[in-house]
Amino acid sequence: MDYEFIEWYKLRLDIRADLLTVVEGVRRGANIELWKIGKHESQKLFASQKKLLEFCLNKLGLLFRIHNDDYYVSRSRLWLDKLWKREIKTGEFLGYPKCCIAGFEAGCKAVMEVGNNDKAPAIRYFRELETLINDEDFDMTVLYNQHVPCRLDCRKALKIAQKNRAVLEAHDVEAANYLRDDNLNLVYQFAYKYPKRETR
Ligand SMILES: [Zn+2]
Repeated sequence: MDYEFIEWYKLRLDIRADLLTVVEGVRRGANIELWKIGKHESQKLFASQKKLLEFCLNKLGLLFRIHNDDYYVSRSRLWLDKLWKREIKTGEFLGYPKCCIAGFEAGCKAVMEVGNNDKAPAIRYFRELETLINDEDFDMTVLYNQHVPCRLDCRKALKIAQKNRAVLEAHDVEAANYLRDDNLNLVYQFAYKYPKRETR
């Protein structure tokens, strides 16, 4: 697909990374939480991004359904219908591996039961990542995931990350770098917000 048009470049990089991996067939669905821009940033930015997003969706031949400015995007009408009829879970719609969906659910359940953030999937994952990030042979490819993998060495998640990296770097280097840097920032944000408790 050709992404050489002005509306694409005006679209935010996080949205570009989300859409591109669907257009290029790495995954079957994406969720663009556009409402967050209106809530956390500005109504003006929200309105302009909404217009650009809908233009790009049409131009790229993507189908979508909206719920409260939450966009669910896919190349397949059937896949969107399955989500709307609740025949599939959101994680499945977004193309996350089954092991990662199960890991995420188990982690969230553990947080509720134990009341301890250490079990939270994202905290656990980014902590694991932090321990490796300064290693000389650290492979940046894991930073191209668009979900929280069940484990750092989850083979399915790694395969997706490899594909994401390849299609993003081939078609939109800015969006590729954005995704990598965003995940890298999350590692440090999580380390700061949720420091490991000393175990004595
Ligand atoms: Zn997994």
